[in-house]
Amino acid sequence: MKTYYNEKKEKFLSLFRGLLLFTALLLVKFDIIPPISQSIFNIFLIISSVYILITTVFPIYKYSLFYKYEIFSAIDVIIVAILVYLTGGISSDLYLFLIFPIVSSAFRYDFRSAILSAILVTLIFTLFGIVQGINIILSSTYIRVIELGIIAIILALFLNYIGRESLRLEQKINEMKIFSEIIKTVNSSLETKEVLSLILESAVKLLGADGGTIFLKDKETGDLIFEKAIGEKGELLEGKKLSKGEGVVGWVVENGSPVIINNPQKDPRFSSYYDKLSGFKTGSIICVPLKVEDEVLGAIEIINSNRNRKFTDYDLDMLMNLAYETSIALNKALLYSQVNLEREKMKKILENVGDGLVILDGRKRLSMFNNVASEIFQLSFGQAGKRCTEVLKCRNLSGEIMCSECPLDKMVFQGLSLMQYEMKVWNGEKEIILGCNLSGTWEGRKVTNFILALRDISLAKELDRMKSEFVANVSHELKTPLTAIKGYSELLMKMNLPPERVRNYYQIIYKESERLTQLVNDLLEVSRIESGRIELKKDMVEIRKIIKERATFFQTRTSKHTIVLQFPEYPTFVLGDSARLTQVFHNLLDNAIKYSPNGGNVWVRVADKMEDILIEVQDQGVGIPPEHLPHIFDRFYRVDSSLRKSTSGTGLGLSIVKSIVEAHGGKISATSKVGEGTTFTIRLPRRFSLVDPLTGTLSLPYFFPILWREMYKTQGPFAFGKISYEFEGLISDNVRKNTVYNLANRLKERLKPNDLIGHGFDRFYLFTRTVMDIEEKISHIPLGDIGALKVHFKFLSSVNSSIEEVVKVINEDFQ
Ligand code: ADP
Repeated sequence: MKTYYNEKKEKFLSLFRGLLLFTALLLVKFDIIPPISQSIFNIFLIISSVYILITTVFPIYKYSLFYKYEIFSAIDVIIVAILVYLTGGISSDLYLFLIFPIVSSAFRYDFRSAILSAILVTLIFTLFGIVQGINIILSSTYIRVIELGIIAIILALFLNYIGRESLRLEQKINEMKIFSEIIKTVNSSLETKEVLSLILESAVKLLGADGGTIFLKDKETGDLIFEKAIGEKGELLEGKKLSKGEGVVGWVVENGSPVIINNPQKDPRFSSYYDKLSGFKTGSIICVPLKVEDEVLGAIEIINSNRNRKFTDYDLDMLMNLAYETSIALNKALLYSQVNLEREKMKKILENVGDGLVILDGRKRLSMFNNVASEIFQLSFGQAGKRCTEVLKCRNLSGEIMCSECPLDKMVFQGLSLMQYEMKVWNGEKEIILGCNLSGTWEGRKVTNFILALRDISLAKELDRMKSEFVANVSHELKTPLTAIKGYSELLMKMNLPPERVRNYYQIIYKESERLTQLVNDLLEVSRIESGRIELKKDMVEIRKIIKERATFFQTRTSKHTIVLQFPEYPTFVLGDSARLTQVFHNLLDNAIKYSPNGGNVWVRVADKMEDILIEVQDQGVGIPPEHLPHIFDRFYRVDSSLRKSTSGTGLGLSIVKSIVEAHGGKISATSKVGEGTTFTIRLPRRFSLVDPLTGTLSLPYFFPILWREMYKTQGPFAFGKISYEFEGLISDNVRKNTVYNLANRLKERLKPNDLIGHGFDRFYLFTRTVMDIEEKISHIPLGDIGALKVHFKFLSSVNSSIEEVVKVINEDFQ
């Protein structure tokens, strides 16, 4: 049985013992019970007083060395024995004081020391008789001995019995106190980790053990995880795993029953692996399962080293009780953490769904909302708990506050579980239209929660509006030329008109049908783009030429506007579809003129950036308000303004432009200032590599810009030549490549630094400042048995030609 050290009791006992011994000493000192020899007594008085004082005043019993009651009792017996001897031995009136150590031992519930003291006392008394030459059995003093012995043993037994019972009681109370303390703290915590630490610490304390571990079972794999470990290097074990059924713990978890192992080294279930890992020497193990009903959640294992005591059945009982109580708390904590995890997951999902979500309680107070909803209604966390009328401010589609016709009330009133409606709210910047899905959770006839899912449908609504407007626009646009065609053809059919008028009417009909065709083509183009089908017929396109042609087209139609072209002096090529690119500049120039009702300049700038061609179309028109700017490239989008009614348009022009530019790998952007004008910027990539990998000569799209630059820079004499080649006969790909490569090298050899050589599909171009005296020359170079190479060398320009003439010749040649 475990003895509990009780400080209060020990203090009292020390004091009592001190007082008793002192009383005995004083009785002798003051001759009430005279000593045999005064001088010896005086020495004894000093020594024993010091001992009694120290052991009474100084709580010596706290130290483990003195924590042996046997030593204490023996010293006390010896002191009293000397005292009794000094006051007459067998006939001393102090003889009953000898009972004291027995009483104190028994009082401590220390049966062993009590019996020991009783035997010791009897022996001493007998010894006194022998020393004093009195035959105890024959003299009447034997009665004293018997008296003393019997009293001592009865007292020891009696007190010990009472002591045992009271100790048991006290121990129980103590355990219950610890238990209730544990359960209180464990129940008040819902954190699994915390619960486990508490259980383990208490268990180790309660059993006075050296260490312990709590294992939790992984529900999926059945593995046992070291959740918490106390003891030497316990932290080393945390997080480690035992596989299903492994070790003593594995056995306990599998069987669901507890076990005490007091000789683990001999038990086959015991694995010494963790002893080796932690350096701990396991001497005894007690392990109980943590069970809720029939489900084993894990196990708690308490260990003592081989220096500590072995575990008893009592320990097992205690641990089982603890395990029972705590597994309930643990289960609660586990469930709680599971629910918490689920809740966290749900919260994350709800927070991040694209739709807005607002949850209101049955009294229409805000209880939860996600990020999207907080943006829509401008909600902050401080507003949780407020009434919806204060924070949501919902309006119907006509813009009136909805509270008098609140859908939530309607839901309750009509007992609906789901409702759908649309509403408007102001999100701080603009009014948005929301599609709402309202559902409720019912408890009897009461709604406990309203769940409002919201989707911003402003754009869809706007697109809807735009589409119907577009249909109206298109119909109008189609109707105008059709009315003219119909009217004039009627006139032609019904009236006899002079040939002049007839011709005129035919012209009108033709023009209108052309406009009709254009419109239909536009629509077809959009539908093609919408379905993602744009096919580009790529070719070398001189961008300046296209723009110049469109500029002339529009300039002839307007006198209010001046189209100013700011181009590089040299041709600017991109690889692209010339018809589509024409359409891009047609639409941009058309808009620039259309949306500059007061006229002004329209600038078109082209800049050659080597890798990209940069084109700007700038006007001095009405401009585009900033809130519309991000949408102007959207299909059917037309800026709401007074101009909108007076200008024809379908809202398709810019979306076509954007699709074409992007199909060319380019980018388009717009900047604008209301009342000052708009600038569209296009960046088109050349999409060529600088050097032809086969011949090491410049590829043409790079050759030309550099050529023009050089020509305009040098202004001195130069010559421009062309070497075209043609293979005759059956020449393999390899021979072809080798031949072109050799030809390029031979040409390069003849050039000076800063001369240029460019390579096209079937030709080289040369630009040289050293005039070569080569006349036009055609040569046949045989290539093996079956074919030959025909090379045609010709100077396209002579030294005396002007730059403009050279550019013209080259452009013509290039066509
Ligand atoms: P639309 O057929 O209406 O011209 P677009 O797609 O070409 O369609 O243009 C979309 C809208 O962008 C136009 O309705 C107009 O309001 C605006 N916009 C386009 N270009 C200009 C410009 N140069 N200046 C001002 N507004 C422009």
